[in-house]
Amino acid sequence: MENGFINSIPQQIDLISAKIPDNVRLIAVSKQVSLSAIRTAYDCGIRDFAENRLQEAIAKQEQLQDLSDICWHFIGHIQTNKARKVLEHFSWIHSLDSLRLAQRLNKLAAELSVSPQVCLQVKILPDPNKYGWEVPELLRQLPQLNQCQHLKIQGLMAILPLGLSPEQALSAFTQTRKLAETIEHQQQWSNLAMKELSMGMSGDYLLAIEAGATMVRLGTLIFGKRK
Ligand SMILES: *Cc1c(COP(=O)(O)O)cnc(C)c1O
Repeated sequence: MENGFINSIPQQIDLISAKIPDNVRLIAVSKQVSLSAIRTAYDCGIRDFAENRLQEAIAKQEQLQDLSDICWHFIGHIQTNKARKVLEHFSWIHSLDSLRLAQRLNKLAAELSVSPQVCLQVKILPDPNKYGWEVPELLRQLPQLNQCQHLKIQGLMAILPLGLSPEQALSAFTQTRKLAETIEHQQQWSNLAMKELSMGMSGDYLLAIEAGATMVRLGTLIFGKRK
């Protein structure tokens, strides 16, 4: 099988879909995945695809223009000089990871007349290898984020450090949900919705769903191991 599993991509998608409640959005992470595998997933009904490298994503989008109802999600770190192109090519950004980037995207979104849906990437556990807000800093910067009126801030995104036990992962996802609830209950941020929780990858998506994820981002489990 092209994904290296005993099952084909359609069979994997069937198995995964059976485990995901209807209100959880399955996002297929297609980084490093071939165009034909993406088309196969599309033919199975997948419409949400996520990429983390801009150049690679744009090249693929050009080749997949006929699949015009795909919703593209950006999940990688955004360098300032790439921000405009990300806005031009993606309707969702899960990886908004600093106030500086938020303000830059906000300004560009106004210029381009777009209103991207975004999630704020939080580091719920310390992780030197990841981008994202630490919780106290995020809470301090909410007033400025609330002023980014051209961004549709929809919730939080979390990636956990490697090597956690299932208990630790569940606890970290639950803390992420509670953080979203805390922000929502403050009720003074008219521009900050906290209804989306983008959390859960191939190794931990069921735990994320248990903790309240609304979007799971699955690559390996659908398409097989990346090189
Ligand atoms: C690669 C990636 C995923 C998918 O990871 P898998 O373990 O292959 O499911 C999800 N989220 C982000 C941010 C990623 O970079």
